[in-house]
Amino acid sequence: MQEVRIDAAPLERLEHLLPPARVEILERNAALARSLLAGRTIWNLNSTAQGGGVAEMLQVLLAYGRGAGVNTRWLVLEGDPEFFVITKRMHNMLHGARGDGGNLGPRQLGHYLEVSRTNAKVAASMVGPDDVVLLHDPQTAGLVEPLRATGARVAWRCHVGSGMVTEETEKAWGFLRSLIEPAEAFVFSRPSYVPAWLPPDRVRIIAPSIDPFSTKNAEMEPAEIGATLRQAGLVDLPADGGSLVFARRQGSTGTVRAHRGLLLDDTPLPADARIILQVSRWDRLKDMTGVLSGVAANLDLLPEDAHLVLAGPDVLGVSDDPEGAAVLETCRSLRDQLPEGARRRIHLCCLPMDDVDENAHLVNALQRHAAVVVQKSLAEGFGLTVTEPMWKGRPVVAAAVGGIPDQIEDGISGILLRDPADTVALTKAVAELLADPARAAALGAAAHDRVRDYFLGDRHLVQWVQLFDGVLRAT
Ligand code: UDP
Repeated sequence: MQEVRIDAAPLERLEHLLPPARVEILERNAALARSLLAGRTIWNLNSTAQGGGVAEMLQVLLAYGRGAGVNTRWLVLEGDPEFFVITKRMHNMLHGARGDGGNLGPRQLGHYLEVSRTNAKVAASMVGPDDVVLLHDPQTAGLVEPLRATGARVAWRCHVGSGMVTEETEKAWGFLRSLIEPAEAFVFSRPSYVPAWLPPDRVRIIAPSIDPFSTKNAEMEPAEIGATLRQAGLVDLPADGGSLVFARRQGSTGTVRAHRGLLLDDTPLPADARIILQVSRWDRLKDMTGVLSGVAANLDLLPEDAHLVLAGPDVLGVSDDPEGAAVLETCRSLRDQLPEGARRRIHLCCLPMDDVDENAHLVNALQRHAAVVVQKSLAEGFGLTVTEPMWKGRPVVAAAVGGIPDQIEDGISGILLRDPADTVALTKAVAELLADPARAAALGAAAHDRVRDYFLGDRHLVQWVQLFDGVLRAT
């Protein structure tokens, strides 16, 4: 079990972006949290310190929690490859997908419980009886019962779901049900993700959020974007004296390193390329392969200067995602088979994970430089890779799956694709935005406002306080 360091972030930083009524609600809840949680620790447990939406949010929210005077701590569980194959299988099945087609039977349960017991032993030695524990996702379900036994209040937070009942979802919930049932509260991103057998009075709906000040989302000057993408070997932009220095999560600064080979063919995009970007983990449900082959097949619908960039983490850097290398390899081989003209305009990019802040800064620069951002997921818990470019005022074309329609109002704050498999519709929607910059800008501006109104951290933090208040009152 690894503990992730959290440095306090002041709430005032967020407050200066908010209207007075929201500042007042946030302050009132911060005061409530300080009195309610005095002498207690809020523990968060998940399966990775970096890569993916949960780690992204915990970094920020726990820092604000500390800034508000609450003792937040973050533990990352450890598992062997077999454990992560089982939990990835569950993840896929909760999304209604078959995943690797493997089983979730007694043998898998046995191994899952064995790994959970080892982690629970370490966690239980740290958690006190007055504490509150927030466990995230299927990887942590085996810790509900052992941590409740310490006397602590335990809530289980599920970031995935499908909104459908299928053979796959039933199997995954069958595996998890008895493990999670002892929790005092259950948190989901959307009402449709809640299994019918959970007691409604113990269920909360909390949508994810982003932080405008994190390295991933902080403002960047055009010259800084240019210098960053050039230094990273991604786009052949002029350096123009732009800064390569970025603020790290923990207050210090970093400098973008000179990278070679982040693009798999190691050839930076031309400065005048208009980028169509999808940023995702190399996860089958994000359908990086579908974007690649769909755009390649419909390249004649796009202007000559349009280039597709599929960007994801260096697959060695995300420990809880065993599918990554295989998905990347499929993308690479699909691209290798394309004719030279298409290959020149379709790029695969692996962002280094040895420095999470630099990774976030590179994603920030790519999202800000993109002409259009796409997210053609086949299933999606919520999709922070949609929220982030929306905040940056980018026009987003995304599949109407999972939490994406909660974010994008079709035709107002982005474009929704009714059928994620319809790559002609995807490419046409992108082409229309490239042909009409005024409409693209209007969608981007509405997208930014939508995120400001619904998906910033103040709303999330207030809902956390209500959750903790609820579980502490209930016992
Ligand atoms: N992400 C990143 N680097 C990458 C790929 C993804 O930092 O190379 C981040 C992305 O910006 C977002 C998160 O990982 O913040 C993905 O969250 P999302 O909710 O979109 O999906 P998840 O990965 O949790 O399924």
